[in-house]
Formats: sequence, C-alpha cells, structure tokens
Amino acid sequence: MTTTHTEKNEQTEAGAYIDRVYQQVVERNPGEDEFHQAVREIFDALEPVFEAHPMYRKENILERMVEPERMITFRVPWVDDEGSVHISRGFRVQFNSALGPYKGGTRFHPSVNAGTIKFLGFEQILKNALTEQPIGGGKGGSDFDPKGKSDAEIMRFCQSFINELHRHIGPDTDIPAGDIGVGPKEIGYMFGEYKKLRGRFESGAFTGKAIEHGGILGRTEATGYGAVYFMKEMLKDYGQSFENQTVVVSGAGNVSIHAMEKAAELGAHVVACSDSRGFIYDKNGINIETVRDVKQRQGNSLSAYTAYHPDAEHHDNPSAIWQTACDIALPCATQNEISEEAAKTLTANNVKAVGEGANMPSTLQAIRTFQEAGVLFAPAKAVNAGGVAVSALEMAQNSSRLAWTFQEVDDKLQDIMKTIYQNSTQAAQSYDRSGDLASGANIAGFIKTADAMIKQGIV
Ligand code: NDP
Repeated sequence: MTTTHTEKNEQTEAGAYIDRVYQQVVERNPGEDEFHQAVREIFDALEPVFEAHPMYRKENILERMVEPERMITFRVPWVDDEGSVHISRGFRVQFNSALGPYKGGTRFHPSVNAGTIKFLGFEQILKNALTEQPIGGGKGGSDFDPKGKSDAEIMRFCQSFINELHRHIGPDTDIPAGDIGVGPKEIGYMFGEYKKLRGRFESGAFTGKAIEHGGILGRTEATGYGAVYFMKEMLKDYGQSFENQTVVVSGAGNVSIHAMEKAAELGAHVVACSDSRGFIYDKNGINIETVRDVKQRQGNSLSAYTAYHPDAEHHDNPSAIWQTACDIALPCATQNEISEEAAKTLTANNVKAVGEGANMPSTLQAIRTFQEAGVLFAPAKAVNAGGVAVSALEMAQNSSRLAWTFQEVDDKLQDIMKTIYQNSTQAAQSYDRSGDLASGANIAGFIKTADAMIKQGIV
C-alpha cells in the first residue's frame, strides 16, 4: 500500500480514516486494481481537507463517493460478416449525479473490464466538477475490439449495445460520449439506434456527434488542444512557454494528434509519438498530416510513417518512447504507460514538465518520481478535461438549438482550461500543497462534489 503525505511522518486521525476507507475499497472491489489506484491517488490529496473540515468525515462522504450510484453490466450479442455469433460484455457506471446528469465517455477495447470502467468513472466525477459545468460522472464501454472489424460489424455491435443501454440513458439522465475505440462514427451508429428506439430526435443524449446531426465544432480537437492550453498556463506561471521546446507525445489517436498539432502551432518541436505497436522518432519534427493519413485514413501501424519520411526511425517497443530526451512529455495514449522506471529516465534526461493527456497514464510511483525531482506535473483530470467541457457545451447547444462557430468554442475552451488551472492552483495553496497540482485538482473537484452531495441529504 502506498503511503499518504503525512503518513511519512506521523499518521493523523484524518489519514487513518482515509486509509480505512481505502482498505474497504480494496476488500469490496477485489481484483479491480485500476480502480484501487485511482481511489488511492485521489485519497492521497484529501488528508488536509479532512483535517480542516471534520464535517466530511461525519457525513461519511468518502464511503458514499466510492460506491457507484448504479453499475450496469449487460450481454451484447452481435453477428459478424460470416454469420457467426459473438458475445461481448457491456458496462455503464453511473457514478455520481450530485452536479448534473451522469456524463462520460464510452471505451471499446479488449482490455475493458468492470475495474477499468470504475476507475474511469471515478476520475470523471472530479474532472467534470473541475470544468464547472453542470455534469455528474459516469463512464461506459465494452471489451469489443473494433480493430479489424468491417463498418457493418461495428454498426451491428453498436446497435446491439444500445438495444440494452437505451433504457438507462437520456439527455437528462446519462449522456455517453467517445473514448478509446469510439469516435463520431460509432457515436452515430449508437445515436441512430437510440433515436429509432425512442421515436424522438433527442440529440442531447450523446455528445461527440458528427456535425451533421447535432455535433459541436471543436469537440474533436478539444481534449488535445485543451491539454496544451492547460500546459501553456502552467508553463507561463513558471516563466516558460512551448516556444522551441522539444516535446514527446505518446499515442497517435484523437488526443495525441491534436495535442501535437497545438503544441507545434505554439512553436514546439514535436519529435516523437507512438501507437500500440511502437513509436516513431523524427528529428525534423513529426509531420502530423502524415500521422493522420497513416493512422486515421489508412488504418496502418505508425511504422508506415518512415516510408514518407526516410529520416525518421521506427522502434518496436511503444514504452521506449520515454527514453527520448525532451523538455515536455505529454502521455496521451493509455493508463499506466509511464512506469517508475520510465519516469526516472525522463527526469534523468531533464524533462521540465509532464502533462497527462490520457487518463491515469502515470503509475503512482511515476508521479512521485516526477514530484520529488521537481518536474512540473499536471494531472489527467485537469489536463484532459477540455474534452468533456466541450461535450457539456454540445449539450447546451443541443438544448438551445443554436450553434457556435469553431472560434467561439475554442475561445470558451481556453477560458475553461485557464479556470481549471487557477482553481487547482488555488486549492493546492489553500491546503498547504502549493505547487502540487495533482493534489489541487483532486481537492477542488472533491470539495465541489462533496458539498453538492451534502446539500442533497443522504444520497
Ligand atoms: P484513440 O483510440 O483515438 O487513440 C489511442 C491511441 O493510443 C492509439 O493511437 C493507440 O494505438 C495508442 N495506444 C494504445 N495503447 C498504447 C500503448 N500501450 N502505447 C502507446 N500507444 C498506445 O483514443 P483517444 O485519443 O480518444 O484517448 C487516449 C486517452 O485519452 C485515453 O486514456 C482516454 O481515456 C483519454 N481521454 C480521451 C478523451 C477524448 O476526448 N477522446 C477525453 C479525455 C480523456 P493503436 O492505433 O495501435 O491502437
């Protein structure tokens, strides 16, 4: 078990309470390691809050928060192009509705299990609170692997998934969006089936939709751009910027591509990115259009990049991307992609700042390594909150039946990311954790959610 900040010296009553609840989480949710990790990371920040406000303990707020309001698990039968029947497993966790209807993405990946969805859903509660939009926390997905499937197979899977899930979601109930393996195409298939079952055009029941049926301009770019806007604020506070910095960004999907694009636009030299099969290093700077072409249009491995840019190198091990020397590292692929060892290599290579574009990409030991080395560390729930923030704007646009321009959405996104940075910084300062943004984001999100829960009675 990891230790809380004060445990290192002497455990307080608040620390003992937090540890006891954490032990209960481990015992009551066996085998859900990623969920345990997400809970531990958040709990580690809360000791000073519980010391200052014993009321939270009296309300047993932590026990309430770690238990989802509802968890739905269901069978998803679907038929492939050869006529064979397959059974996937579907999940939706409706974790917390203190601030608004459940809101969170949908992940289709073979690694998905109940623990994955619960870790993502738990993080989503505080992330959504940080955006200051009226949205609660939820998450969903399936162990279905969209890779190598035809469009017809993906459509049939999405229709079967919604055939069950439709009864649990809606514009004022729970609003799914995309995540790994789920983009506007999959959202379109799910929305089409939902519309048929409901017999109504409830465009606000999903976000991340294509523009043609109620999507918002700028949602595709929002998570990656938002991550860079957040990092820009942080760097500015320390008298730095993206200008002439060497940047490494893992992943080659939605978040990664847009983070690379915005960082390059702000003058950074982006030299490496990765996918699940390896990473590329291009000393001339990653050509983002080629990455888009190879990954999104051709559906190839990143290794195809070198055919267009012969100076670039492809390496087979994706984790080895962190051996690339850089000033700023933006992990934008998946959970636990930065191990303690990778963090030590990055710090030995003098990385100045790390910004988590993906959800929980750094292990607890990696985060500690960065913090102890004085690296500027920006946590996922603040850095990648731009995606869900623009999803909330999409919901507002659908309700009002109005549409904003790309520039209007991007301006709002920049303001939201600035606010998240300021609120996280101030929360850290108020609770004696100055400069510790990971704690600040957890504290700010926790207080907002906990206060709303308490005002609604024992819920
Ligand atoms: P995508 O599916 O678009 O892209 C994921 C990318 O990561 C792919 O290029 C994939 O490679 C690569 N990848 C997967 N595993 C590894 C690995 N072990 N090492 C290196 N690369 C790997 O997903 P998103 O970009 O949407 O999501 C990325 C992360 O951001 C996730 O943690 C997600 O939860 C988070 N996030 C996403 C938001 C969004 O708006 N999309 C919002 C907030 C958070 P390959 O192509 O080979 O599979």
